[in-house]
Amino acid sequence: MTDSLRLTAEEDTGLRGQITGPVFLRGDRGLEAEVECFNTNAGLPDPEMVVGAADEQDVCAAVRFAADHRLPVRVQSTGHGPGPCPGDGMIISTGRLNAVQVDPDSRLATVGAGCQWRSVVTAGAPFGLAPITGSSVTVGVVGHTLGGGIGPLIRSHGYSSDWARAFRVVTADGGVVTADADSHPDLFWALRGGKGGFGVVTEMTLELPYLPALYAGRLVFAGDADIEAALRAWAGWLPSAPPDVSTSVALVPAADGQQLHMRFAVPGSAADGQRRTAALRAALPAAAVGTLGELPLTEVHSIHDDPVDPLPLRSFCTELTGLPDDLVTALLARVGPGSAAPFAEVEIRHLGGAAAQHVADAGAVGGRGGALMLRLVLDDPAAAPVAVAIAADVFADAAPVRFAQTNVNFSGSMSKRPAFESAWSPQMRARLAQVRKTYDPTGLFPFGPAD
Ligand SMILES: Cc1cc2nc3c(=O)[nH]c(=O)nc-3n(C[C@H](O)[C@H](O)[C@H](O)COP(=O)(O)OP(=O)(O)OC[C@H]3O[C@@H](n4cnc5c(N)ncnc54)[C@H](O)[C@@H]3O)c2cc1C
Repeated sequence: MTDSLRLTAEEDTGLRGQITGPVFLRGDRGLEAEVECFNTNAGLPDPEMVVGAADEQDVCAAVRFAADHRLPVRVQSTGHGPGPCPGDGMIISTGRLNAVQVDPDSRLATVGAGCQWRSVVTAGAPFGLAPITGSSVTVGVVGHTLGGGIGPLIRSHGYSSDWARAFRVVTADGGVVTADADSHPDLFWALRGGKGGFGVVTEMTLELPYLPALYAGRLVFAGDADIEAALRAWAGWLPSAPPDVSTSVALVPAADGQQLHMRFAVPGSAADGQRRTAALRAALPAAAVGTLGELPLTEVHSIHDDPVDPLPLRSFCTELTGLPDDLVTALLARVGPGSAAPFAEVEIRHLGGAAAQHVADAGAVGGRGGALMLRLVLDDPAAAPVAVAIAADVFADAAPVRFAQTNVNFSGSMSKRPAFESAWSPQMRARLAQVRKTYDPTGLFPFGPAD
């Protein structure tokens, strides 16, 4: 943390006169509420200054002020990111930039920087249009999409960023650029997966696919034997899974041990979905609870049922090239029923399908090409030492099938070198660094390890 920022009365009045939203200096009442995070693991941010942007002009004025005063600028929306947020500089909070407009003819949604997925889901559903969201609809649309974005429809529709069509960005000089396929294509490429260090996105345009029906939901398995049987059946079915069928599994604590949640999302009617998942369902034991069927688009969040209230989350994540039997056996022993592992969730998402396709101009998504994503989620900081040790053992078990990259939305804090270096290939990292240099030559928007 640096010394607190001191403004002369003239500077203070000048800045507040240019900004419609609230401006807080460290110690001001209201600052803490402005930067409250969903993920409380890293503690409350303690920046020198916070600007609650009410419109794009506020963002421009804040960035110019920060550049003049050599204050590093960070952006916060919902605070779902892993943190930690260093104690220097300015945070621009985007929660007030929450307008959403859907044009059903072009199937384009214009989304303000502070929008959560829920508002786009709600706006698109009356037209049968479904944004390609993540698992949680309270995550910020822009922060999620800047990292690529892996959601319940990952295999049928790819990454969320594959559906981004344009961004409005305030760059380091305080000016606004539109980045799309024709204008600033280098920045447009970088914003679709490159995550940060380019500027402040104030608005994004997303294409929404038409999804007249969705077969989705989950099956819940209880009892040690059924959990093992279901997990092994799923792992055995994966190589033959139809390319547009997205599934994932999660071991979660339950009152009497553990449960295995198996989630499904298949575009199309219930009859289509049943047909395309028949081989898997036939191999499974009887589910204790099942909610598979045609799901209204507005209920997409129920597939994963992620937490919506703040939690101290820490996750350990790696992508995999496959899920061999011996890894399933090791996982069951280390984190399965009876293991006493402290995780809130041990999740494996099936990637591939549309997510693996290197379509022309696919953007800067790291981790594209991994077959699965394995994630151990902790929500109890007191259990961190145990969790770290178990995660290290699990990753060692998985070593023969670990994929070289793990998508940035799951790879951890970008201020840590291992997470940063695992998030993109060396070639992609170098190209992203070049784009950052072009649009932020003085490093006003810090991103990546400081050393
Ligand atoms: C419960 C939970 C569920 C999740 N589920 C998924 C999932 O299914 N799929 C997936 O891919 N990810 C998932 N994530 C990860 C999530 O997508 C990322 O943490 C994402 O960065 C959160 O964005 P945010 O804006 O909500 O959070 P914030 O913490 O507010 O922002 C995170 C980062 O995004 C960047 N950012 C945000 N807004 C802007 C902007 N306007 N301009 C420039 N940069 C900006 C900044 O670098 C910022 O530090 C999940 C996270 C949690 C905690």
